[in-house]
Amino acid sequence: MNILIINSGSSSIKYQLLEMPSTKVICVGAIERIGSTDAISNYKTDNNKVEKIYEIANHKAGLERITSLLLDSEIGVLKSTEEIDAFGHRVVHGGSDYTETTLIDEEVKRKIKMLSTLAPLHNPANLQGIVMAEEIFTTAKQIVVFDTAFHGTVPVKAKKYALPNNLYHDKGIQAYGFHGTSHKYVSEIANEYLNKANTKLISIHLGNGCSITAIKNGKSIDHSMGFAPSNGLIMGTRSGDIDHSIIYYMVNTLGYSLDDVNELLNKKSGMLGLTGFNDLRDIEEEASNGNKDCILALEMNAYRIKKYIGAYTATMNGLDAIIFTAGIGENSSLMRQLVCKDMDYFNFQLDDSKNDLRSKNFREINTTDSKVKILVIPTNEELEIAKQVYELLT
Ligand code: ADP
Repeated sequence: MNILIINSGSSSIKYQLLEMPSTKVICVGAIERIGSTDAISNYKTDNNKVEKIYEIANHKAGLERITSLLLDSEIGVLKSTEEIDAFGHRVVHGGSDYTETTLIDEEVKRKIKMLSTLAPLHNPANLQGIVMAEEIFTTAKQIVVFDTAFHGTVPVKAKKYALPNNLYHDKGIQAYGFHGTSHKYVSEIANEYLNKANTKLISIHLGNGCSITAIKNGKSIDHSMGFAPSNGLIMGTRSGDIDHSIIYYMVNTLGYSLDDVNELLNKKSGMLGLTGFNDLRDIEEEASNGNKDCILALEMNAYRIKKYIGAYTATMNGLDAIIFTAGIGENSSLMRQLVCKDMDYFNFQLDDSKNDLRSKNFREINTTDSKVKILVIPTNEELEIAKQVYELLT
């Protein structure tokens, strides 16, 4: 079964074509900077690798470009669009209605649109990807995997806010949790590796968006992102936890509009707001050259992660392993070192030489006498989505 995974962002479409159940990756690619005259298209198969700059005005043009690459007589991998059996769409917010992988129909699309108010950076773009795929690939099944789904097991005591009850019961105001596909994928690998019953894991996803999840016996029991993907850890451009009084102060006293505050908290804060840089590689480079803002931002970032590790160890009453994943978690030995420093009270000890080794593979990076394991597990959200789509259809 050929499954095309689509991760449609506000200005990008990332895609991967997998053959299931063999899990063979047939091709992988991305179109970035959609909406500009110099959008970048990457496309890679076993035999070909192509990078080109095009004018790509919108998501429809983006998906048409991807389709023409897939069908290209020289470098393509398909003869007709009918060879795609199913699409797996990543959608960030599924609210409380969708805790399972779901076949897309009009009602599902309506709900994704409705939930855009809760995930304005993500859901509208995700929906656009779905609509375009339906238009171009008319025979393929369209399936959605929600980022919130894995957190459907979080107990009420953890997901309910201390607000009047009707806001939870009637209005759906609660912590939903995100990055579920990634946390599920890496925690299953960790559980297989640990090979023991009743595991207590903390999964730390550090990419442009960052989140941390407590996972007990394979189930998510708490998560740092809340009602929308904005709470918790310090992210690339999002602030993570702040005191909500700051919002009223900015509006009532400093004269910001609510839209300004929203824009500021989601797009201009986090590491970007603290340093002027969004990409952690730049921040690390600057810090190594003595840039004080960058040094402090890295410390703040690690400090926040440590606080959540402490909280989740308490709520699970123990800890078997922590998992680092995603762009920063998998690649930044510095961030891992800052997080694991002075954590001997929690019984975990980083092996510096293992931490410094660069690798794209699963690895254990703690010392042999560390009671808690420190694992680096490359995430693969596309593979996890393909597995779930395949399971649903078979
Ligand atoms: P997304 O949330 O968009 O999927 P990724 O998981 O790709 O993000 O992570 C992007 C982040 O990973 C960026 O901040 C980037 O700087 C960081 N990153 C990638 N490689 C490295 C590296 N070698 N060292 C430090 N940070 C890295």
